[in-house]
Amino acid sequence: MIQYSLQCAKGHSFDAWFKNAAAFDEQKARGIVSCAICGDPEVEKAPMAPAVARTDNERRTLSSNHPDAAKFRDMLRDYRRKVMNEADNVGDKFAEEARKIHFEEVEARGIYGQASQDEIASLIEDGVDFLPLPDVGEDN
Ligand SMILES: [Zn+2]
Repeated sequence: MIQYSLQCAKGHSFDAWFKNAAAFDEQKARGIVSCAICGDPEVEKAPMAPAVARTDNERRTLSSNHPDAAKFRDMLRDYRRKVMNEADNVGDKFAEEARKIHFEEVEARGIYGQASQDEIASLIEDGVDFLPLPDVGEDN
């Protein structure tokens, strides 16, 4: 995707997204690009560098070769161990138990367990506070 700042003959400026530079040229040639404010089909790219949307594989990840990677992994492992030592394992009843705690149907306590994507989505919707447990085993 590519974002252009466009300007019509009357001087209105607005932003629009196109699949690529060629898609803009093609849509403009067919007369289907028009001013978002007045509908004027006389639009030109405003003199400004286009912003290109980042693709997923450009997202930053912490490389395992990073000097702090081992330290960071140890921290996550300590956190995971602490949760597992101090909280109740409720297994696949996590969503059910988390909701009971949230709505104060049972006494508040630390719990951990598994939840499906659907359950996670509905917990977020209900405003239940929880965190994903980092997936760092003892050797990875
Ligand atoms: Zn206009």
